[in-house]
Amino acid sequence: MRRPLIYLQLVVLFLSFTPLAFSQSTKESKPNFIIIFTDDQGYGDLGAFGHPTIKTPNIDQMAVEGQKWTSFYVAANVCTPSRSAILTGRLPVRTGMYSNKRRVLFPDSDGGLPAYENTIAKLLKGAGYSTAAIGKWHLGHLPQYLPTSHGFDSYFGIPYSNDMDRVNDITAKEAFADSKFEYFNVPLMRNTEIIERPADQNTITKRYAAEAVEFISSNKDKPFFLYLAHSLPHVPLFASGDFRGKSERGLYGDVIEEIDWSVGEILRALKENGLDENTYVIFTSDNGPWLVYNEQGGSAGSLYGGKGTSYEGGVRVPTVIWGPGNVKPGVISKMGSTLDLLPTITTLAGAKMPQDRIYDGFDLSPVLRGENATPRDEMFYYHGNRLFAVRKGDFKLYFYSNNPAGYPEKLEKLEKVTLFNLGHDPSERFDLADQYPEIVKEIQEIAKKHSAEMVFGETQLEKRIED
Ligand code: MG
Repeated sequence: MRRPLIYLQLVVLFLSFTPLAFSQSTKESKPNFIIIFTDDQGYGDLGAFGHPTIKTPNIDQMAVEGQKWTSFYVAANVCTPSRSAILTGRLPVRTGMYSNKRRVLFPDSDGGLPAYENTIAKLLKGAGYSTAAIGKWHLGHLPQYLPTSHGFDSYFGIPYSNDMDRVNDITAKEAFADSKFEYFNVPLMRNTEIIERPADQNTITKRYAAEAVEFISSNKDKPFFLYLAHSLPHVPLFASGDFRGKSERGLYGDVIEEIDWSVGEILRALKENGLDENTYVIFTSDNGPWLVYNEQGGSAGSLYGGKGTSYEGGVRVPTVIWGPGNVKPGVISKMGSTLDLLPTITTLAGAKMPQDRIYDGFDLSPVLRGENATPRDEMFYYHGNRLFAVRKGDFKLYFYSNNPAGYPEKLEKLEKVTLFNLGHDPSERFDLADQYPEIVKEIQEIAKKHSAEMVFGETQLEKRIED
């Protein structure tokens, strides 16, 4: 009985080497990049990040085959500024995508991401890439701000949050408790045209997946960049018939499991087109869970706080970077940020970083190859235009406090700063400011220098169409 097993092992061994040989011949060509960006998914909402009942086998597999980043940050705790940062590599206070009054863009907003800003898509397009944006945009819904004005060849998705444009005769509470897409008059767009309104949100994850698969196969002979920004699991929650009612975690779990399925479809399309060894797939979320929606919101796992706060639960997001043959598998527990994706991707694509402006990201490509420790040793956490906290190494110093649930906002300047060692205490339970006055002083100096040098862009989030 043993001999057939050995033959089988030899066949498996041969097959496992064949794609490697293939990958070497394609290494000359520029790599492809896919960013999968979920909305309001918490740090604890994936199997790979410890969720006990949500099943995410595809993303978990990516985490095993690639790098799981356990201290990866977004640059803002709500949608619009966070999305501006992942695409531009710059803090929202620099690009004008911040406000203390209106923290995100709304359907009556007259602003958006300024034309001056470079997106990953714009830089890669200049390097010969095909580019597509699928999903939620939320960086301005007027034509001059849409993806097609920011370096993307095509766009398919909803221009702002899936809970906006709610019909008048129903309260938000009612609409979320028994979500029907007809309650939200959100448009679905192709390029600059509205093709469906209200968007049928029950099938939206499935349709985003189909668009993504189609984009991958139609660009198999050309380098591409795909930005797939899911409009879920932002409330109201929707899932297609294949997933609704299936997860132990209820409707929120159904939504995540459908997103995980769509990740599987994308990985399958890469493999079927022979692109898996030449493509980087980055999975992450735009901010922490929306805790005030209770079971309809996600979980930050062991982290404190949620969406709308700059506590760890609001800004540390579950992140996986996958690229067989290119990304050395492992768990990276030191810092990374969505701000780092633009310089990392630009470098990997062989494109040039523009020298005419300040970027807030680092090139993580040596970390992906397993050659170096992460170059990021500091993180600046803004809430609107206020520097809420600064992390240096394992220590995070707070200058403000807030309602940990995020809403209603209760921002207060602290009379006495607080300090946490996130290496020892990721849940931020033990204030060590009195114990480490020298670390407090060091981070205060870093904050002072940063603030003295910061040049704020003009806010784009307070302009209204009727003004
Ligand atoms: Mg969000």
